[in-house]
Amino acid sequence: MVSASGVRGIVGQTLTPDVVLRVAGAHASFLDPGPVVVGRDTRPSGEWVLRLTEAALLASGHDVIDVGIAPTPTILYAIRHHRASGGIAITASHNPAPWNALKLFGPGGTFLAPAQSEEVARRASQGRASWVPNAQVGALRSDADAILRHREAILSVAGLDRERIRKRRFRVVVDATNGAGSEATPALLEALGCEVDRIFCVPDGRFPRVPEPLPENLGALRERVRVTGAAVGFANDPDADRLAMVDERGEPIGEERTLQIAIDWALALAPGPVVVNSSTSMAVDLIARRYGVPVHRTKVGEAHVAQKLIEIQGRIGGEGNGGVIYPALHATRDGLLAAAIALDWLSRDARPLSARVAELPQFAVVKRKLDLRLTDPDSLQEALGRAFPDAERNVLDGEKYLWEDSWVQVRASGTEPIVRILAEAKNETAAAKLAHLASEAVERSQAHAQPR
Ligand code: MG
Repeated sequence: MVSASGVRGIVGQTLTPDVVLRVAGAHASFLDPGPVVVGRDTRPSGEWVLRLTEAALLASGHDVIDVGIAPTPTILYAIRHHRASGGIAITASHNPAPWNALKLFGPGGTFLAPAQSEEVARRASQGRASWVPNAQVGALRSDADAILRHREAILSVAGLDRERIRKRRFRVVVDATNGAGSEATPALLEALGCEVDRIFCVPDGRFPRVPEPLPENLGALRERVRVTGAAVGFANDPDADRLAMVDERGEPIGEERTLQIAIDWALALAPGPVVVNSSTSMAVDLIARRYGVPVHRTKVGEAHVAQKLIEIQGRIGGEGNGGVIYPALHATRDGLLAAAIALDWLSRDARPLSARVAELPQFAVVKRKLDLRLTDPDSLQEALGRAFPDAERNVLDGEKYLWEDSWVQVRASGTEPIVRILAEAKNETAAAKLAHLASEAVERSQAHAQPR
């Protein structure tokens, strides 16, 4: 699947050596001359995918700076540090182990703009590359300090009160799902004076749980927090650009809360515009209203949110899946920075995480996945229109129907052959009802479509 975030597939089936060379070769031909930063998450397939990626870049005349196993935000930070022409992260993010992917980055340490990644995809499908003669072949070097530099940069973020956090000596548990955050996340938290208890922090890419940090996948973390009496549990996805949290009672607070906490943290320091995607909770609008700042919404996908943040010089933004983007450090989702921000927010007063979260606006979100492809958009619109006649329709991304304090959205995933349904309302029952009505409308309208 090709999307604004790159190219991903199942290892050995849709993600083959040929595909990797085509995509890396196309990206190499698209970037300006100069070094390219590469790195990967912990998946075993990352080894061969990274080597082929490096080969394609070197054969295209780019020097390559290999940061090895590293969180995606670390790779992006390294692009800026080295003033590189761009970068490639080998990671399928939250997707299960059989998947891998190339995330493509431009100069400045951000994702390619959507139009740019479309151009790279076009070149890849045409087999376009710019292989160079011997005299111009690139050189490979490794950079073992990328994680350390990223950590130092986070610790130096203005407004982050390291001393105040250190004084609290937070006891925390980290679940990195044996991914790229396995060493980087605990090291950052230790630098903030935390006593860190690690589960699933062996960077071997053998995911011991479903790697997406959703509440239902965090059973081990919840148990460990409860048993040890920790103040908070942190969970990353395999490339550590997302963060979810478990409160001191062992209850998942929901990945939407990660972004809400970061927004509340940033706006209390200095107000400014917020940018989130069209699927993110309405709680963000209410938090922004408390500070009198506007909220801009974009299509789903980091590239869209980051581009808008840069364009309007937004204060903070991200995605409701636990992806925090704080442009004062860099315009990319950063699960490590999000953990530091959460601790700083928590250290502002003495109450535990559950009590602090209770002060944020309360909404219930229900998320569903349907295993089908949308093949008939016209009858979908008609069916949804019939189901929700009194709602305001919004088509920024997929089909969204809004009321004063609730909404429901139907959209085809950009990264998987599924339809996502999201509903938000003041309580779980109301949200579940909206999601149910939308699911029925989708299934009715796509009745002739082949299930996947
Ligand atoms: Mg990720």
